[in-house]
Amino acid sequence: MKKLYLVIPCYNEEAVLQETATQLLNKFNNLVSEGKINEDSKIVFVDDGSKDKTWEMIGELNKSTKYIRGIKLSRNKGHQNALLAGLMTVKEEADMVISLDADLQDDINAIDEMIDKYYEGCDIVYGVRSQRDKDSFFKKHTAEGFYKLIEKLGVEIVYNHADYRLMSKRALDELEGFREVNLFLRGIIPLIGFKTGVVTYKRNERFAGESKYPLKKMLAFALEGITSFSIKPIRFITVIGGSIFAISIVFLIYFLIRHFNGYTVKGWTSTIVSVWALGGFQLLAIGVIGEYIGKIYLETKDRPKYIIDQYIK
Ligand code: UDP
Ligand code: MG
Repeated sequence: MKKLYLVIPCYNEEAVLQETATQLLNKFNNLVSEGKINEDSKIVFVDDGSKDKTWEMIGELNKSTKYIRGIKLSRNKGHQNALLAGLMTVKEEADMVISLDADLQDDINAIDEMIDKYYEGCDIVYGVRSQRDKDSFFKKHTAEGFYKLIEKLGVEIVYNHADYRLMSKRALDELEGFREVNLFLRGIIPLIGFKTGVVTYKRNERFAGESKYPLKKMLAFALEGITSFSIKPIRFITVIGGSIFAISIVFLIYFLIRHFNGYTVKGWTSTIVSVWALGGFQLLAIGVIGEYIGKIYLETKDRPKYIIDQYIK
């Protein structure tokens, strides 16, 4: 029987932690008694620099059961980094690791099927949302729009899959080799390869607490996903720049013909419009290029992605 570790990033999750722990312990007891996992399996909560009582609660849970452990990061580093910190810390001890969110929006009953797929030889099993009717209208449409856009931009990701997935020890060892600091795990993991499987489930509502992903963080994350994996936005700007240049040559010829035919300049409107349109487009183009240069700047510094303060076993 193999050892399963669950990795759960938590940021200010005091409202949900107790209930989450209860449900997961219940699941664990079932899995152990069915002989699906080894009884040395663990549930590891990663505290991503919470400002509330999350870490104290993890400490108490750790004392109350042998299944629960805690990792405390030195400060808030964001969901993706907290997740990576957990995965990299536990991979030496585990045979398989499942990552999930602290609010249990992702149905924990999918865990059984993920484990079955692991025993069938899959190194990565993706949890995919079959429907999102519990998400707000806004969240559903922005999220699905994002998945479609990123596919169009040529990034290989699994549609409607977030960070609920099983990975084998072998897959995690390979993940370690991806050194980038601009982390977008959903884009990196398909690059690992190996035999993969998919498990579908229904996404629930967050049962307590607020989303830790406000619109601003969501947009930043989407931009990270696009610019870390696709250079199509830069190509797009090159194509538009080339087209505008071609058009301007046609106009130049036209204006010269008019000039030599003796017409005087009247077109104030067209002048001012083109000044603003071109100026705006140039700023946008510089912004896109700047975004990529910023990425290079951060990557070359190669700073640590997270720092672990404590690991309670
Ligand atoms: N999270 C984190 N660090 C952050 C923000 C979020 O570790 O800076 C965790 C959070 O505790 C949760 C998961 O990431 O376990 C997903 O966050 P949330 O459920 O708020 O996002 P949503 O489901 O609304 O997209
Ligand atoms: Mg959530």
